[in-house]
Amino acid sequence: MTYIGRFAPSPSGPLHFGSLIAAVGSYLRARSQQGRWLVRIEDLDPPREQPGAAAGILRTLEQFGLYWDGAVMYQSQRHERYQAVLDDLYRQGKTYHCHCTRAQIQAAGGFYPGTCRDRHYPPENAAVRLKVDAPCLSFHDQLLGLVEVEPHLASEDFILKRRDGLFAYNLAVVIDDADSGITEVVRGADLLDPTVRQITLYQQLGWKVPDWLHLPLALQDNGLKLSKQNHAPSIEELPVAATLCRALAFLGQPLPEQAADMSAEALLKWAVKHWQLSLVPTAASVHHH
Ligand code: GLU
Repeated sequence: MTYIGRFAPSPSGPLHFGSLIAAVGSYLRARSQQGRWLVRIEDLDPPREQPGAAAGILRTLEQFGLYWDGAVMYQSQRHERYQAVLDDLYRQGKTYHCHCTRAQIQAAGGFYPGTCRDRHYPPENAAVRLKVDAPCLSFHDQLLGLVEVEPHLASEDFILKRRDGLFAYNLAVVIDDADSGITEVVRGADLLDPTVRQITLYQQLGWKVPDWLHLPLALQDNGLKLSKQNHAPSIEELPVAATLCRALAFLGQPLPEQAADMSAEALLKWAVKHWQLSLVPTAASVHHH
């Protein structure tokens, strides 16, 4: 079976060092197994999108020599598919419509207690929730081993489509990864929690669950995660080869002696050949400088 991996950035801002780690890690993991590496733009949430960010991310990937296979998938073009899967789940009695507000859920203790399960509300102005009767509580990670997630979080009837009509990340990511034939999901450890929900959804759909590998998160000097929300600096303007070396070092990978004089393409080629998963730090987060 061919390995198929992917990188799935959200176009809410330019690529930063944290997302470069996910890109490089997933790329090396795929290419070291002669696998395919796909790119998907997760443009599910128009208000959080930054104009031009998707094109900028793709341009930056190319500058770093991170060339993907096939056409880029855009979640904004897949709404019919998401709705069709939702309709199927609903017909099978696996979802229901919910009118609860965030404030009501907070008042009930922070986790949604299934209030609307048996109310049989029509779909208008309602969120769609998955009935989670057999939650996945833990999973095997290729790097971290057994990962257990807070049971309340794993068991919650989570949202598949929001009241405002936006499809939820957990729904889109499962459908996209399954439709793309992804065999292993490699991404940052900030997504450990949603993984159990995604596995539960795969199981409800009767689809094959991929393997999982969560990479350590890059932290800023102040201990905050590098993210668009924390205004992590863009890597667009940084020198490519030196930044790539920093990413490889962050992932615990060796560097060639002549690294300073190499192009991004040559560095990546070398890194694919010398990739060793066992060298990647297993701490969930690591400071970088
Ligand atoms: N789009 C998500 C992000 O940028 C990643 C989703 C994933 O890799 O599953 O954080």
